[in-house]
Amino acid sequence: MSRPLQARIDLSALKHNLAVARGHAPQSRVFAVIKANGYGHGMLRTAQALAGAEGFAVLTLSEAVALREAGFTQAILLLEGFFGADELLALAEYRVATVVHSTAQLEMLEMSGLPVKLDVFLKINTGMNRLGFPIDAFPSALARLRACPAVGGVTLMTHFSSADEAPGIADQMACFNRLASAHELPASLANSAATLRYPETHGDWVRPGIMLYGSSPFAEASAQSLGLRPVMTLESQVIAVQELQMGDAVGYGGTFRADKPMRVGIVACGYADGYPRLAPTGTPVLVAGVRSRLLGRVSMDMLCVDISAISGAGVGSPVTLWGEGLPVDEVAAAAGTISYELLCALAPRVPVIEV
Ligand SMILES: *Cc1c(COP(=O)(O)O)cnc(C)c1O
Repeated sequence: MSRPLQARIDLSALKHNLAVARGHAPQSRVFAVIKANGYGHGMLRTAQALAGAEGFAVLTLSEAVALREAGFTQAILLLEGFFGADELLALAEYRVATVVHSTAQLEMLEMSGLPVKLDVFLKINTGMNRLGFPIDAFPSALARLRACPAVGGVTLMTHFSSADEAPGIADQMACFNRLASAHELPASLANSAATLRYPETHGDWVRPGIMLYGSSPFAEASAQSLGLRPVMTLESQVIAVQELQMGDAVGYGGTFRADKPMRVGIVACGYADGYPRLAPTGTPVLVAGVRSRLLGRVSMDMLCVDISAISGAGVGSPVTLWGEGLPVDEVAAAAGTISYELLCALAPRVPVIEV
């Protein structure tokens, strides 16, 4: 038998979650966001399961090319656009739409002499202050795109900083509407949180990411309450058991010390697999289907769990680190982060199986 750790990917859950997104935004087309290796789930696998989406959103040209070479014919959008003029010919060749967020990109398009027109998503900075044209630069950016022979369709785009929490999207939305109302152009605004919570943002293309993977974009609402199903289940087994006496410590630094006799299960999963090293004692773990807790520091290849109260638990007992039965959102919260980071960090050494 090989090391028992694996990531189980539920393809039907991906399809289900796409249907949930569609149910919220029935008038919109969907860019399934599959950047970062499909949020750790495998880009091509994810694209295959989400092939019912009208488009895929990725970060880089090489991801777009990989999708085309795998035979996908849907629209593809580069979320940050191209990084250099040397990418433009391939964008045209592979029929990839691009964000244009900067004057530098605009100039590259104008100078390109491309024989084919690219679809462009003109990104407006409505308050996130990360990428996008400032409000007062928008009219001239749009005019230049429209005059540029290398540009075909133009869609207006923005990204929300707080669709998942207070203060919400109202200010950014009002800003976007002020600019967009003068033009009859398609719009794309909504990430998962806005897709779920703010119908007024849906426009022509929604861009859900995290919800497709069955995780909640909201700190205060569980994925289950949103009708989402977990896609990745990270599962392993207990590979050794330690009987602790009162006062015995566990793991590096001995940061956990038993205050009574305890049984500790050693689990084949560590930070080199993508489990967060900063997860503290008390982080939830499922052992043989029973909720328990992490003890002490996570090491590179192993972590320790309390199995004192789980009768019958021992070597070979199944362990769920996150996924079915234990929302990744809860594990992430215990580790002081968000599900996105845990899912994206799944290490290449973890075998993946599809169900
Ligand atoms: C990653 C990303 C998304 C998806 O965000 P989620 O919170 O995962 O739904 C949407 N739009 C842009 C521009 C992104 O970079």
